Amino acid sequence: MRIEVVLPLALPGTLTYHVPPELVPRLRLGARVVVPLSTRRATGYVAALDVPPPQGEVVLRDVLAVPEDATGLPEDLLQLVLEAARYYCAPPGEALRAALPRFAETPTRRVRVVRAVPEKTPDGRLGPRQRRLLVALAEVGELALDEARRLHGATAASIRALADKGWVELGERDAVDPFASSGPACADLAPDPNPAQRRAIDAVLGAVRAGRYRGFLLHGVTASGKTEVYLRCAAETIALGRSCLVLVPEIALTPQLVGRFRARLGGAVALVHSAVGEAERRRAWSAMLEGRVRVAVGARSALFAPLSGLGLVVVDEEHDASYKQADRFRYHARDLAMLRAHHAGAAVVLGSATPSLESWSNVHDTKLELLRLPDRATPLPLPAVRVCDLRLRGARHPRHTFLSRELVEELEGTLARREQAILFLNRRGFAPTAICSSCGTFVACPSCGVALAYHRARDALLCHYCNFERQVPERCESCREGELDLRGLGTERIVAAVGDLFPAARVGRLDSDVAAGPSVERVLDRLRRREIDILVGTQMVTKGHDFPAVTFVGVVRADMGLQVVDFRAAERTFQLLTQVAGRAGRGTTPGLVLFQTFLPDHYAIAAAARQDYEGFVRQELPFRRELGYPPFGRLVLLRGEGRDAGVLDAAMDALAAELSPLAAAAHASLLGPSPAPLARLRGFHRRHLLVKAPTRKAIRAVAVRATAWAAHAGRKIRLIIDIDPLHLA
Ligand code: ADP
Ligand code: ZN
Repeated sequence: MRIEVVLPLALPGTLTYHVPPELVPRLRLGARVVVPLSTRRATGYVAALDVPPPQGEVVLRDVLAVPEDATGLPEDLLQLVLEAARYYCAPPGEALRAALPRFAETPTRRVRVVRAVPEKTPDGRLGPRQRRLLVALAEVGELALDEARRLHGATAASIRALADKGWVELGERDAVDPFASSGPACADLAPDPNPAQRRAIDAVLGAVRAGRYRGFLLHGVTASGKTEVYLRCAAETIALGRSCLVLVPEIALTPQLVGRFRARLGGAVALVHSAVGEAERRRAWSAMLEGRVRVAVGARSALFAPLSGLGLVVVDEEHDASYKQADRFRYHARDLAMLRAHHAGAAVVLGSATPSLESWSNVHDTKLELLRLPDRATPLPLPAVRVCDLRLRGARHPRHTFLSRELVEELEGTLARREQAILFLNRRGFAPTAICSSCGTFVACPSCGVALAYHRARDALLCHYCNFERQVPERCESCREGELDLRGLGTERIVAAVGDLFPAARVGRLDSDVAAGPSVERVLDRLRRREIDILVGTQMVTKGHDFPAVTFVGVVRADMGLQVVDFRAAERTFQLLTQVAGRAGRGTTPGLVLFQTFLPDHYAIAAAARQDYEGFVRQELPFRRELGYPPFGRLVLLRGEGRDAGVLDAAMDALAAELSPLAAAAHASLLGPSPAPLARLRGFHRRHLLVKAPTRKAIRAVAVRATAWAAHAGRKIRLIIDIDPLHLA
C-alpha cells in the first residue's frame, strides 16, 4: 500500500511512501509514522491512505516504523490541518507545525528564574543589556531565564555577571501546572441566568444536543454575562459526554476567565498556555487525546487541542486581532474554529461586545445566528461616557497639557472616594520621537528607518519594530548642534504626570514593557487587591477584566488609532474605546468614562461614546461596500521582502504583470505594488501588492498563481502570502 505523509517541515506538499505489509494493519489517518528523508529519519503523520502511484519513474521508499506507543493525531484534527493549509495556500508541514505542541527533548518540571534583590542598588558600570534586565526586574520581581533572554535580550553571561555581584539572584520555581487552580481564586456562585442569558443558553444547548453544526454570534454588551453563558453551556456539554474547546485572546490577560472555568468545571479543564511546563504539556496533551480531560482553554493555538467528541467551541472576544497569527502560518483561529466545529458536528459560539464586521455580516448571510444580551448582568447599567474636546480653550491642564482639567478633576474625585481608575493610551514608552530642536531630524532606527521611542525606565531609545536599542545622543547627530526634544506621548509620560499631580496615589503601569505572562498577572493581581489606585496602560487594559472598584476610565487620546492608514482603523478604534469603557462601573458604584480627543465628531468616537455598536456598523458598512473591502470583498496581501530595493521593485512589477490577466478574468483588482506602510524592517525593504476580489475563489486562484511564481523568483526576494490579512503594515 502507498500512503501520503505530512512532515512538520516547510516542504511544499506531502510525500508518498510505500508501506511494508506488516505495518499496514496499524495505519489510520493521523497515525504517527517514521520515514526516511534523504539521509535521515523523520517523524510524520499519515495524511492519506491507499493513494495511487505518483506520476513518472519514482522509486518509493518504505515507511520505517509505526511506533506503537505513539498516539498520533485524531483524524478530524489531521483533516483540519490539511484543509487549513489548502485554504491559506501554506505548506501542509507549516500548518502541522502550528498544530503540534512544542515538546522539548527533555521534559522539565522546574523553571529556572532570575529574581530582583530589592535592597541592592548597582554601584558599578552596567552594560545596556544588564541595565535593561534590572529595570525589568525592578518592575516585575522575577523572570524565567528564557523570558529574560527572549523579552529583554539578556545573555547568559550578563545574567551570571549580575548574579556574581549579588545584584540579582538565580533560582527555580515550579512550571505552571495546566490542571492546578493557580491564578486568582474566585468564589464562583453560579448566578441564575437572566432571561436573555437563558435564551442564549437554550439555543446553544439545543444545537449541542442535536449534534449538528450550528454557529452563533453572542453579541452582549460589556458585563452582560457572556462568560456565564459559556460556563453553563460548557458544563452541560460535558454532562452530555462531549468535549468543549474555549479560545480566549491572550491567556496572560485573562487569568480570571480561566479561574472561573476551573472553579466551575474542576479537574476537567486543561489550560493550553505557553507558560505550562514541558512535562505538564505532555500530560495535558495525552489526557485530551485519551478523553480524560474534556475541556481545553487557551489562546490561538489551543484551536488544535486534540479533543475528540467535540460538542462546543467558544471563541471569546471573537473580534480580537490576536486570533490571527502574524508570522509563518498566517491563520485566523476564529475562522478555523468554525471549520473545526463544522467537521466535528459541534456548536460554535463567537462572543463579543463589539463583533468583527466579518462575523456581523455572517449573521446577515445566515451563516451565524444572532443571540443578544442587551443589558448588563450587574446591578448597574453601562457607564456614562463624556467626550472632552481638547481643541476648546481652557480645556487642558496648564502643567500637563495632554491631560484635560476635566480628567484631572475626575481622577481627584475617584481617589477621594477611594475608588480605582484606569487611564488608557495605546502607546508604550515615554515619548515616541526624539527630534532635533534645531534641524528637525529625528533619531531613527538604522535598520527600519522609523523613529526610535524614548523609554524612561531604560533611559534609552528603542525601535518598536525590531527592538534595536541605543543611548540618547548628547546632540543631534545630523547637524551636530541642536538638542534633542522628546516629543509626543507614551504610557510612561502619563505615569510621570499622574505621579506629579497626585504624589500620594499608587500608580501602576501595564504595557508590553512590563513583560509578558506571569508579570502581567502580578499587575492585575495588585489592581484586584487594590494596591494600585490608578492603572495606566495600553490595549492590555481593555481586555475582558472585571474589577468592580474601577469606577473611572480616562482615554488620553481617543483618536490616536485613527491616524493609521488601514481600512480597519475606525473599526479598531470603536472596538478599543467600547471595550475600555466597559471596564468602568462593573460593581455596585456607577462608572464614568471620559474620552479626550481632537476629533469629537468622528463617527467611531461618537458611536463608542453612545456605546452604539449597530449605529457604528450602519455608518461603517457603506464605506466598505463602496470600496469592496471585507466583509464585502476578500483580500490577499502579497508582500515581497529583499535587501536590494531595485531587485525587489523589479520582481514585484514582474509579479503584478504575471497576475494581472488572471485578476482581470476573476474581477479582482491589484493595488500596487507599492512600498509597505513599514517600508523597511530589520534591513529588508518591503513592497506590497494587495489583491481585492469579490469572492474567496478568486483570491485563491491569485494566491495559488503567486505561490507558483514565488517558487521560481530566486533567492534574493521572499514572498509572503497573507490570505484574509488583518494588518496591512
Ligand atoms: P461578560 O463576559 O459579558 O463581560 P461576565 O460573565 O463576566 O460578563 O459577567 C459580568 C459580571 O456579572 C460578573 O461579575 C458575573 O458574575 C455577573 N453575572 C453574570 N450573570 C449574572 C446573572 N445572571 N445574575 C447576576 N450576576 C451575573
Ligand atoms: Zn528597527
